[in-house]
Order: sequence, then structure tokens, then C-alpha cells
Amino acid sequence: MSTNEESRKRSIDQLEKEEDPQKLDPLGDLKIDDDQVLKDIRQRSACPSCKRSVKYFCYKCYQVVGMDRSKLPHVHLPIHLDVIKHHKELDGKSTAIHAKIISDDKDVDIHTYCPPDRIPQFEEPEKALLLFPGPSAKQLKDIPSLDSFNRVVVIDGTWHQAKQIAHNTPILNKMQKVTIAPRKTTFWRFQNVDDQHLATIEAIYYFYREYFEACQQQQHQTKYDGRFDNLLFYYKFFYNLIQRTYQTNKTAKFSHRHQQKDYIKNREDKSEEKEEDITDSSRNGK
Ligand SMILES: [Zn+2]
Repeated sequence: MSTNEESRKRSIDQLEKEEDPQKLDPLGDLKIDDDQVLKDIRQRSACPSCKRSVKYFCYKCYQVVGMDRSKLPHVHLPIHLDVIKHHKELDGKSTAIHAKIISDDKDVDIHTYCPPDRIPQFEEPEKALLLFPGPSAKQLKDIPSLDSFNRVVVIDGTWHQAKQIAHNTPILNKMQKVTIAPRKTTFWRFQNVDDQHLATIEAIYYFYREYFEACQQQQHQTKYDGRFDNLLFYYKFFYNLIQRTYQTNKTAKFSHRHQQKDYIKNREDKSEEKEEDITDSSRNGK
């Protein structure tokens, strides 16, 4: 057995040890639609716009393939979402795209950050919330007039890329920084950071949930009712797919094809192993 293989087995054992019954389905309590419609998709199809061969949806055009879009859940977002994606972040790794597909197309814009030419600009930055941690970041419940903001900006990419974007895009400094309450991620790629760094779609989901709760609190209204849970529709599907594959096929080979330095590392032993390439079928053919 090679050293790599040994450390892979160790990390899987570790994962299993960590799993108590509740953690086996950490997304189980959410009101997320049945994903049979995704399970029924067996093969790739050509994207109607770019003709690329893709499964589930096209990462470039945000088109749904292999099924009728009307069978997907739909989430209405109370304020506009802008995602800034680092140009080096692989499209297939971006979970922010799930929000673009599940919500109204017009409610989500995905911008590519590619300096020096493509640095996103925003009108009225004082009316935008920037979801980014830092000393000046506030929790939503501590912002007195949330209705004076009309959009939230989220940075998508590795932690290193996100910091680079935040520091090199002056207009972002004019926005009110916000954070969400610390939570453990269920993200299946073990990032080389602590387990409170959420996948982008998890962060988006919790933002809208806390936004709703903060607004309700200000108006003395009722509890959160699950209205944004379907933002995690694809996320839960891929998460369960990977969990099942880990459990039924412990000898599955790891692929190094999509290696990205400092991105996906095992958080236990910091080995060079990368995510098992199970989600590959959902990515663009490359
Ligand atoms: Zn396409």
C-alpha cells in the first residue's frame, strides 16, 4: 500500500469515526425538495446555449440540462445577490451557481474578477452589504435599518482568492461588511482551513436565513419557515452522493486531475491528497 493510499484510508476512517447519527444527514432537517429528478439524470446532455456536454446544468450558461427546469424548486430572494468569482476559480467548483439556477435569473449576477481589466463596479455601494469577515463586519441582527440595503455581495473562491479580491477592489470597502453566525460546514472538500469556512452556497443560504430572521425580529414577526432551504437543493444532492460513494466504495481512486494548490486538502493530516473525484460527472467535460 502506498503512503498516499494509507493516508487516504486513514482519513476515511477518521470521517466515519466523526459521524454520529445526526451528522450522517446534517441537512436532513431542512425543507429541501425531493431530489429524485436529479437522480433520474443518467447522462450528460448538450447545453442548449454553448453545446458543451454537461450533467445537471451548465456552469457557463446556467442552463438546466437533462430535465425540465419547472421541476426544480424555486427560491425567491428578498434582496439582489451579486457573486464575485475569481477568474482562477474553476467554474465546476463554484457552488454559488446553485443560487443562480434555483432563484430568479434576474435576482443573481455572477461577476468575474480578472484584474486589471475586469473588476466589478457597483452603483450605490453604500446600499450594498458585503458578506466578508473582519473587524468592521456586523451580524445582520445588529444592523438597525436593513431595509436601506438593496443587495448583498458575496465573494466566491478559495480563501486566499477571496482575500485578494476584497483587498484589491476599492469599491467593496464602501460597503457595510456583514458576517453570519459561526457554523460548521458540511462541505465535502476538506479545505486547508478550519471547518467553519463554509462552501459559498452554504454562506449564501445562511445569509438569507439570518437576513429574514433579522427583518422579522425588527417587525416582531414569526419564526423562520424554511423558505430559503432549497438554495441547498443541489448542495444536498451532491453531498449525499459523495457520502454514499465514500461508504459503499472505500477503494475509489482519488483523482489529481483538478488539483488546485492550497485548495482541497485533508484537514486531518494535511496530505497532498485531493478530493475524490466523485463530483466529476457533474462538471463540464474538460
Ligand atoms: Zn452552456
